[in-house]
Amino acid sequence: MNLNSSQTLTISGQDGVKNGSQHSWEDAKTILKPSTPSKKPPKPENSITIAVSSRVLFNMEKEQQIFEQQGMEEYIKYQVAHETEPFSPGPAFSFVKALEAVNTQLRDLYPESEELFDVVLITNNHAYVGLRLINTINHHQLFIERFCMTGGNSPIGYLKAYNTNLYLSSDPIKVHEALEEGIAAATMFTPEKMTEVSETQLRVAFDGDAVLFSDESEQIYKAHGLDKFFEHEKAHENKPLDHGPLKGFLEVLGKLQKKFYAKGQRMDCPIRTYLVTARSAASSGARALKTLRSWGLEIDEALFLAGAPKGPILEKIRPHIFFDDQMFHVEGAAEMGTVACHVPYGIAQRVPEGKGIKDKEISSIK
Ligand SMILES: [Mg+2]
Repeated sequence: MNLNSSQTLTISGQDGVKNGSQHSWEDAKTILKPSTPSKKPPKPENSITIAVSSRVLFNMEKEQQIFEQQGMEEYIKYQVAHETEPFSPGPAFSFVKALEAVNTQLRDLYPESEELFDVVLITNNHAYVGLRLINTINHHQLFIERFCMTGGNSPIGYLKAYNTNLYLSSDPIKVHEALEEGIAAATMFTPEKMTEVSETQLRVAFDGDAVLFSDESEQIYKAHGLDKFFEHEKAHENKPLDHGPLKGFLEVLGKLQKKFYAKGQRMDCPIRTYLVTARSAASSGARALKTLRSWGLEIDEALFLAGAPKGPILEKIRPHIFFDDQMFHVEGAAEMGTVACHVPYGIAQRVPEGKGIKDKEISSIK
């Protein structure tokens, strides 16, 4: 759904709790003015679509609290009273800004091409909150033309309609649903203090097993421990791993990188990718690299940590986003200021580890 649609919007709260009334998009259209970029958004079939929920793009914690503690009516009243006050940036904000910086450089090099990132905002908020969201987008000068207000329904149908290449949300259940449908997706968390990141180069860091790769080797590790895992991987070095849920996203990043390389920008490419894995270089790293090569994919930097914590190395890399299937790595990264996302995929989800948000998230995912 976009703002030109004449569909009916069902009013709902942030948790999708309906209050029974409806507003027509015809009414909303007169209120919801699009942001005012001169650039046209690319067609969904040509673009690399990144769908983000309003609660990861912006900081809506205070409003969420009002909704939870005081209910829908107070929530709406508050939002309307603060309509002209923009939300402050959330954890996905720098990532989206970096996508736009890459687009600017792509447009300079390939003015006619529609192979660009296209950010879609997914929200199940009330129409009047939609107005505050648009004011916020204009305030921060973000280039977001596509809004998808799901009225409390699952976003999956819309994600498919937009050919979504990556979906980021704070809701692990929606993320899980998207993954089940084969859409690359991750649950994003807000670190207490976010590390400063580059404004001109997009940096994306991936875990290997159960993120870029399937969880087939992870299963060996869970069943028999790290030593057996290293042994197994050494023995199967020449057998490529199956793909994991985020492989497609690395693929599209690689496709865009090649466009920069074709213009002589290999060393100063505005997209840089990182593999940050618990595998060790000596025993199990070769299989990871050979797998990527068998897919025709490159990764700019591969960091084999042999089980060491990922937080400190990520602090040095300063990625805009880091993906991992294990909550203790997500937490470790977030503690050191990295915007980290959980990919609820593979065997690690069935074996709760540690404490804190991880147990809650895992138990709610199943
Ligand atoms: Mg993993």
